[in-house]
Amino acid sequence: MSRTLTPADSQRIRADFPLLDRTVHGKPLVYFDNANTAQKPRAVIETVDRFYRHSNANVARAVHALGEEATSLYEGARDTLARFINADARDEVILTSGTTQAINLVAYSYALPRLGPGDVILTTRMEHHANIVPWQLVCARSGATVKAAPIHANGELDAEAFIQMLTPEVKLAAVTHVSNVLGTINPVARLAREARRRGIPLLVDGSQAAPHLPIDVRAIGCDFYAFTGHKLFGPTGTGALWARRALLEAMPPFFGGGEMIREVRFEGTTFADPPHRFEAGTPNIAGFVGLGAAIDYVQGIGLERIGAIERELLEHATSALQAVPGLRIFGTAPDKAAVIAFLIDGVHAHDLGTLLDHEGIAVRSGHHCAHPLMQFYGVPATLRASLSFYNTHEEIDRFVEAISRVRRLLA
Ligand SMILES: *Cc1c(COP(=O)(O)O)cnc(C)c1O
Repeated sequence: MSRTLTPADSQRIRADFPLLDRTVHGKPLVYFDNANTAQKPRAVIETVDRFYRHSNANVARAVHALGEEATSLYEGARDTLARFINADARDEVILTSGTTQAINLVAYSYALPRLGPGDVILTTRMEHHANIVPWQLVCARSGATVKAAPIHANGELDAEAFIQMLTPEVKLAAVTHVSNVLGTINPVARLAREARRRGIPLLVDGSQAAPHLPIDVRAIGCDFYAFTGHKLFGPTGTGALWARRALLEAMPPFFGGGEMIREVRFEGTTFADPPHRFEAGTPNIAGFVGLGAAIDYVQGIGLERIGAIERELLEHATSALQAVPGLRIFGTAPDKAAVIAFLIDGVHAHDLGTLLDHEGIAVRSGHHCAHPLMQFYGVPATLRASLSFYNTHEEIDRFVEAISRVRRLLA
């Protein structure tokens, strides 16, 4: 089989990520924790560095040249983000500190005023805590409840059940685009169509989709789309909420402060239009300028190509892991991203994670912020290897060899 990348292509891509060069415990690093946070290309590091060296000022406050420059770089990042997800308009993109803040904003500003006793927020069994806990908090205040649609044993969403659960009590549905544990890619366009037919807004958590798939919010047809910058090769503390303009216009502010007002009076303050209404205080300006550079970088390679590279890596890793005796993979949906959660019979996830670390291999062990999913599988924790386009087939071979060695040691 001919691969999407030649070894020379792969070398060139890896050379863009300085951190991949380092050793850990005296071994060359194998970084398989990309679903936790991704490494940053030189373009991002240099853009942030250049911003602080050359353009640093606060945004939307000063008329001096630096203030205008910083504002135009920051607002330029919003344009880049809007194009990246194919939004109708830049004003539909709110810059947040990440997915967590984006979902909390929707929970408090959109959902809470509309919730009462008997109402329901519908989500699924495979959600990250960031797409569960904010809903529980606003339900606790309003007497509403959170319900979770079931999943199949292979980690696919039971889409029929989800659709059946879209009853009139449901005031909002929230589903992940790609599971951070199972890798499952959910049929979000279909779910959005069904929700829309019933007049129920749908929020999609795109944290794990944005680094791997082309995102088109108009084609998906959802109402809210949240994602985080640091998994998309950008700086930590960056992310975005996209929402339909009509929804944003009907939403009151969540945080109050500077930069989000039109006029402040003690008799009553008036607020700026979206998106600035939702961006109180000084934002992570350098971070967003860096995120813009990350998106330019990713688009330079192309998300279709990234998807093809990662599918090859996923196939290779899956078949190699399946050959390890006693190894069980959680999440074998036909449509999945390059995330592999697994356990080995009789071996503790943390023990294996620690032994792999001694080999320079970084995987995550734990519950992956998805307790209800662990409860579904009846396990306290799993290991998770999450791959990115800068990983290689040789790294996968080193990883699987190390697992085989450790298994023999621990068995
Ligand atoms: C990482 C992640 C989040 C939370 O993102 P933050 O950057 O921590 O806000 C939410 N949902 C999913 C599916 C994730 O993978």
